[in-house]
Amino acid sequence: MGWLRDWKRRRVLERHRIDDALWKRAQKYLPFLKGLSADEERRLREMAVIFLAEKEFTPVRGLKLSDQDRVEIALQACLPVLELGLDWYNGWVGIVVHPSDFKVERTQTDEDGVVHEWKDELAGESWPGGPVVLSWEALDDAGSVPEGGANVVIHEFAHKLDMLSGEPDGVPPMPTRDARERWIEVFDAAFDRFCGDIEAGKETFLDPYAAEHEAEFFAVASEAFFESPNALKREFAGLYGLFRDFYRQDPAGRLDT
Ligand SMILES: [Zn+2]
Repeated sequence: MGWLRDWKRRRVLERHRIDDALWKRAQKYLPFLKGLSADEERRLREMAVIFLAEKEFTPVRGLKLSDQDRVEIALQACLPVLELGLDWYNGWVGIVVHPSDFKVERTQTDEDGVVHEWKDELAGESWPGGPVVLSWEALDDAGSVPEGGANVVIHEFAHKLDMLSGEPDGVPPMPTRDARERWIEVFDAAFDRFCGDIEAGKETFLDPYAAEHEAEFFAVASEAFFESPNALKREFAGLYGLFRDFYRQDPAGRLDT
């Protein structure tokens, strides 16, 4: 059914576009959108239009989303898949947006059969095969952290890419077995070094939350890759190389952060 989807997408592009005023405002609030070539910018804007047509936004708890809000979320979500293609986000449609960080109830049963229940406060969440959940308040942090980056949209969509190859584990789909083995080797070394720094009480360039799990390390490092790529390249050169090959982008060449 590829032809039908392509036809629908062409129809969407014939009828809709992100006008220059919306794009300029988005660039002002999202400085990491700068440095794209004219061709990359055109493709990102088109991809965001299709994203807006294919995904379904659900603001909750009284939140209202403006066109600008939707466009900014779409542009940030599309940036990581600019060279991979929007089909990497197939299989789900929902984007739920809370006005602020939200509480979720968690339960886990340990090996003794004891059920633990607790509440987590989250800025975002990604469900396998289900929606991406975002906090509108957390969206405001995008582009605001000079080193390390902070971007809840890129974070949650990186989880989506990770989950395409099963359980979230920091290993997104790889083209070959060799590539997968190489990824695990370089990625794990970077993750271990980072966790060691956290345990030693060292100041780290990435958010310490990244030490929670390999999946979080991948999502947090992806934020840095797109927002402060030069800093990531300095701190984790090997990891930067993996991300450059995976995302097929070299943001350090287009940004000076
Ligand atoms: Zn996460």
